[in-house]
Amino acid sequence: MKGSLLYEGKAKKVYHVTDEAEKLILSYKNDATAFNGKKKDEFEGKGRLNNLITSRIFEYLQQQQLPSHFIKALNDTEQLVAKTTIIPLEVVVRNIAAGSITRRLGIVEKSAFNPPLVELFYKKDELDDPILNDQHALYLTNVNDKELEFIKQKALQVNEHLKDLFNQAGLDLVDFKLEFGRLEDGTIVLADEISPDTCRLWDKETGEKMDKDVFRESLGDLITVYENILQRLEENTCAK
Ligand code: ADP
Ligand code: UDP
Repeated sequence: MKGSLLYEGKAKKVYHVTDEAEKLILSYKNDATAFNGKKKDEFEGKGRLNNLITSRIFEYLQQQQLPSHFIKALNDTEQLVAKTTIIPLEVVVRNIAAGSITRRLGIVEKSAFNPPLVELFYKKDELDDPILNDQHALYLTNVNDKELEFIKQKALQVNEHLKDLFNQAGLDLVDFKLEFGRLEDGTIVLADEISPDTCRLWDKETGEKMDKDVFRESLGDLITVYENILQRLEENTCAK
């Protein structure tokens, strides 16, 4: 049963589970934010779409033997997950240049990265999530060398699986952000969400942006686009 509110973030609320201290409920909100909260809006149905999309993706990763915090979807907007202590890193994998890397390094948008790039950012809103090198990450978090390597390898494995999944859905996976957390016993697992809020997805045929850039750049109706992503994933993943 849903217990007390542990945390409210920009996109989700996090609840305790009564009598199950090792679990949490993530409740997806309809809010959309960009530019570290400087642009804000609310879209009816967004929480449902991100919850259902994330759930599909984590189920797919589990079928590919890639463990995560995900236990199950509870209803349209909520999911049950294993409680972790989140490592304050945003692990970004890039297949194609877009977003901050084009501005930071002057790389032309759409340039391909072969092999894909892994970047680390410090998950700290007050500092606008600055980019980190490995030494910064080791200093600022409690992960050791081996664990940092493990996290980067996992992120690249997730990339291979997601590229396949989205490819089948007619989408190019441009880039995405992952978070990892520690379970009670210290094991590091994939956590948080994987949705069009945290991935860049481009239609393979038209090149159309089908992710949060629609909101960031005011390109069209976010809900129509996210519904389309869910529909494509439903056609390309087995229902439970
Ligand atoms: P933000 O904190 O960036 O505004 P959200 O609105 O998505 O983000 O809030 C959800 C919070 O829940 C995030 O801080 C995320 O790191 C955290 N979280 C996600 N999965 C887990 C988990 N399994 N255990 C503990 N915390 C989690
Ligand atoms: N991303 C995210 N949360 C963040 C920052 C980035 O989910 O706090 C995702 C973003 O949606 C994109 C990828 O990580 O898919 C790379 O983002 P980038 O560094 O290009 O930053 P942006 O220009 O999107 O702010």
